[in-house]
Amino acid sequence: MSSFRAIRIDKTDSGSSAAYAEFDDADLMDGDVTVRVTHSTVNYKDGLAITGKSPVVRRFPMIPGIDFAGVVETSQHRDFKPGDAVVLTGWGVGETHLGGYAQRARVKGDWLVPLPAGLSLAQTMAIGTAGLTAALAVMALERHGLKPADGPAVVTGAAGGVGSVGVVLLAKAGWHVVASTGRPGEATYLKGLGAAEIIERRDLSAPGRPLGKERWAAGIDSVGSHTLANLLSQTRYHGAISACGLAQGFDLPTTVMPFILRGVALLGIDSVHCPRQKRRDAWARLARDMDAGSLAGMTTTIGFDQVIATAHDILDGKVRGRVVVEIA
Ligand code: NDP
Repeated sequence: MSSFRAIRIDKTDSGSSAAYAEFDDADLMDGDVTVRVTHSTVNYKDGLAITGKSPVVRRFPMIPGIDFAGVVETSQHRDFKPGDAVVLTGWGVGETHLGGYAQRARVKGDWLVPLPAGLSLAQTMAIGTAGLTAALAVMALERHGLKPADGPAVVTGAAGGVGSVGVVLLAKAGWHVVASTGRPGEATYLKGLGAAEIIERRDLSAPGRPLGKERWAAGIDSVGSHTLANLLSQTRYHGAISACGLAQGFDLPTTVMPFILRGVALLGIDSVHCPRQKRRDAWARLARDMDAGSLAGMTTTIGFDQVIATAHDILDGKVRGRVVVEIA
C-alpha cells in the first residue's frame, strides 16, 4: 500500500480545517519504525487540534491523533521487529509529527511502548493518553507518601477520560474517592467505577477563599482555574493535588496560604514527554489495575468516520469516559 486514509488538518485564513484525505507513504515524516495503525482514541487535545480551538497543531499539513496502537510493518530500531504490537502516546505526535488518525504512521522507535502484557490493542486506546495521565497522577501522589488512611481523594472532571480512569485507579488502591462532576446524571456511572461520593462541579468552580475547610488528603485535577485553587485551599495538612488539565481554564487564581500554612503540595503531571521507564511503569500499573469490566463500562467504540464529530463532542463535554477509534 503506498497511499492510505487519514484525517488531514490544513491551515486556512480563519485558522485551520480538518477533513478525511488520502495520504501517500512518501509524505510520512522521518522515523525508524512504520506501524499499521489498528486503533486510536479521542482525547481532549485531539478535540482542540481538530476544531482548531487552541493552537496545538504546529505543522501543516498535519495528521492529528496524539495516540495510536497497531502492528509494526518495518523497523530499523533494535527493540522492534515486524509483527510486534505497539502503543504510542504523546511525544508531539498529532501536534508536530504526523499522528494516529491514519492507517499508517512512521515514528521514532524510542517513542513506542510494547503492548503491555494483559491488554489488547483496543484496550490500550481505551486507556490512551488520558488513562496514562491518570496513572501518572496517582503514582505522583503515592511517591509523595500519601495513602488511603490519610483521608479522601478528590477527582475533578470525573466523568471525563482522565477523571474516569483516575476514579478506578484510586478506588482500586483503597481510597475513599470523591468524584466532582458537572453531570450529576452520571452518578450511577461514577459509583460503578468506584466513587464513594459525588459532588457537583459548581461546589468547586467559583472563586473561593484562600483557605477552606480541610476536605481531602489527595486529588487529581483535570480542570484547572478556580477549581484547582479551591482544591488546594481545601486540602488537608501535608496533602497533595496532581494537576494535569485545563478544562475550566489554564489560570490558577490561588494564594500561597495552602502551601505555607498547611504544607500542601501541587504536583505537575505531563504525559507527553514522560520518560520511557516511568511510562512503562505506568502502563504496567494500568494493565494490573484496569479490569476489563471497568474499562469496557467507560468506553465507547466509534468508526474512523466519526472522529471529527466526536472531536467537537469532547470539547462540548458530551463524551463520557473514553473513546476507542477502530482505524483498520
Ligand atoms: P475530557 O473531555 O474527557 O474530560 C474533561 C472533563 O472536565 C469533562 O468530562 C467534564 O467532566 C469536565 N469539564 C469540562 N468542561 C469543564 C468546565 N468548563 N469546568 C469544569 N469542568 C469541566 O478530557 P480528558 O480527560 O481527555 O482531558 C482532561 C484535561 O486534562 C484536559 O484539559 C486535557 O488537556 C488535560 N490532559 C493533560 C495531560 C497532561 O499530560 N498533562 C494529558 C491528558 C489530558 P464532568 O462532566 O464530569 O464535570
